Amino acid sequence: MTNLPGFTESLKQLIASPSISSMQKSWDQGNQDIIHLLATWFEQLGFSISIHPVPGTENKFNLLAKLGSGEGGLLLAGHSDTVPFDENRWLSDPLTVTSKDDKFYGLGTCDMKGFFAFILEACKSLNAKKLAKPLYILATADEETTMAGARFFAQTQDIKPDVAIIGEPTSLVPVIMHKGHMSHRITVQGQSGHSSKPSLGVNAIEIMYQVIGELLSLKEKMAINYCNQSFDVTSPTLNLGAIKGGDNANRICGHCELDLDMRSLPGMTDAELIALLGEALAPLAEKYPNRISFDELHPSSPSFAQEQPCEFTSFAEEISGHKCCAVNYATEAPFIQQLGCQTLVLGPGSIDQAHQPNEFLSFSEIDKTNRLLTSMIYKYCF
Ligand SMILES: [Zn+2]
Repeated sequence: MTNLPGFTESLKQLIASPSISSMQKSWDQGNQDIIHLLATWFEQLGFSISIHPVPGTENKFNLLAKLGSGEGGLLLAGHSDTVPFDENRWLSDPLTVTSKDDKFYGLGTCDMKGFFAFILEACKSLNAKKLAKPLYILATADEETTMAGARFFAQTQDIKPDVAIIGEPTSLVPVIMHKGHMSHRITVQGQSGHSSKPSLGVNAIEIMYQVIGELLSLKEKMAINYCNQSFDVTSPTLNLGAIKGGDNANRICGHCELDLDMRSLPGMTDAELIALLGEALAPLAEKYPNRISFDELHPSSPSFAQEQPCEFTSFAEEISGHKCCAVNYATEAPFIQQLGCQTLVLGPGSIDQAHQPNEFLSFSEIDKTNRLLTSMIYKYCF
């Protein structure tokens, strides 16, 4: 047990073990080193470790560590990957923890490899023999891209903790709600031809113009028909993100594509959003048969809502000193919730520092986080 690093040293080792996930192949890395590091540490504390390769990925793994036995208990979860970094905008080496101005700087200090250093610290003083219920630790892969790790975990695991905490950077404010996210590509297939003979072609840009009109009125309708006051943006959103079509001024445009994303409120299902899209485009699909199609760009993430008040949310409010709130970013929470446990997103560091150069964790959060995790472990495992 004496081989375990102290908090700062474990943070350093976690940050120095690169585990970037990115849709760009040149950035994307496996996470085997950090998973191995976590396995080595928690094994020394008596946890049983299982490591699972995540299907559809290259060298990406989930780790589940378990201490104690029986039903229920607490799951502490986080993702082992980080986003890529822009080296020129960092003032220090992103992979080397640098202490300055009462902060630890480094890629993943707050989002969210640092959380595992806190868990390790909280677990060092546990008397495993006295555990009444199990303590689980989960480290997932690819949260920053496809959430493949959490999806796979939810589909394949049959553990059922009573409660789960995902240690994303919420400034230690318990988060009980966030929106879902889906993105689609709408494709209009026209018929190209010489611009001097419009009647011989079908202009895809002209049809897309009408499609956009329908989407903008859907956006207005959603703002009127759906509302959740817990969010600062109270309605579901629809964003037209990218458009591409045609090749030359003197050709009738034969093909046009539009990428959009929609963010649903808790309570709205993917099927409901897709039905709304389908309804909005139905008149045009009838007017232009077989010319308009829409496809998912990548797997959607559901919205998340934890019922409250319940004992778990009240306890989290009490020990954090903050009221539960809703946030706009998506997390792995809806997948963890599929285990059947009450779920909160609650962790040190601020989302304002996540995905930014010079990401940091403030020293001022260290003691608070240690106390919070220890209280949670004693409440739900002893
Ligand atoms: Zn994160």
